[in-house]
Amino acid sequence: MSGEWFTETLYTDYRQSLRISKVLHRERTVYQDLMIFENPCFGRVLALDGIVQTTEGDEFAYHEMLVHVPILAHGNAKRVAIIGGGDGGALEEVLKHDVERVAMVELDPAVVELSRRYLPSICGDAFDDPRAEVIFADGAAFMREADETFDVIVVDSTDPVGPSVALFEQEFYADCRARLGEAGVLVTQSGVTFMQEDEARDTYRRMKPLFADAWLYLTQVPTYGAGFMTLGWGSLSAAPRKTPLAEIERRFRAAAIETRYYTPEIHVAAFGLPGYIRALMG
Ligand code: SAM
Repeated sequence: MSGEWFTETLYTDYRQSLRISKVLHRERTVYQDLMIFENPCFGRVLALDGIVQTTEGDEFAYHEMLVHVPILAHGNAKRVAIIGGGDGGALEEVLKHDVERVAMVELDPAVVELSRRYLPSICGDAFDDPRAEVIFADGAAFMREADETFDVIVVDSTDPVGPSVALFEQEFYADCRARLGEAGVLVTQSGVTFMQEDEARDTYRRMKPLFADAWLYLTQVPTYGAGFMTLGWGSLSAAPRKTPLAEIERRFRAAAIETRYYTPEIHVAAFGLPGYIRALMG
């Protein structure tokens, strides 16, 4: 942050800055530096350790693709786990589906508390939904020790620094696989590939030996600057990713969900990768 600008410190040689029109909250939580401020373009912005996590203006491009793609590809997801996701945006999207239980495992209670207070346009009333259980714990430890099974596991983590490093390790993906039911799907946030090549490459290469189907798919989030973000994909069956467009359209109509980024066409197209990303996958 310098003067009235918030300057993100994610990369050494590239920076994005957002004008701060008002600081709503700033504190050092037990786990991270947390700041919520207003920006004229993006509305309210949540930043952790100097990195933009989500904004009111463009969160739909991230949360809709992180959630609706695996759930509609699975086709009958009743039990869902979210690892991280303290702002509640992913939780809100999951709860739009006919699910029975959502376990959200977030490390930092302050992120949930402050998101409820300052970001209701992102989380809505998701935290009050009786289908949702919020568990304050380390997501890696939870997956290692859990004994329940999920149809879809969504990893909505910070970038791999500090407490989220374990969420990018092969051991964690193996623990997630062990918790997936038949044709279960694991998705992860894997960074902006043009800038964070290692994140996408390592995610794919670590998942590949573990899953019947491992892949990456794309979304485009304005405040995750410098190109496409990739989301990691691991499934116990090849079928979910190959679900034909007509069937995805049927499931989307049946779910009766309103979206701003997700469409059945973009769902299918998101698995088509540019050459520079295919090259990373080897
Ligand atoms: N959409 C964001 C992005 O792509 O940068 C992620 C947002 S969400 C707020 C990330 C959450 O992951 C944070 O609230 C953070 O506290 C949580 N987190 C980090 N490491 C974790 C861990 N090991 N277990 C559970 N939650 C974790």
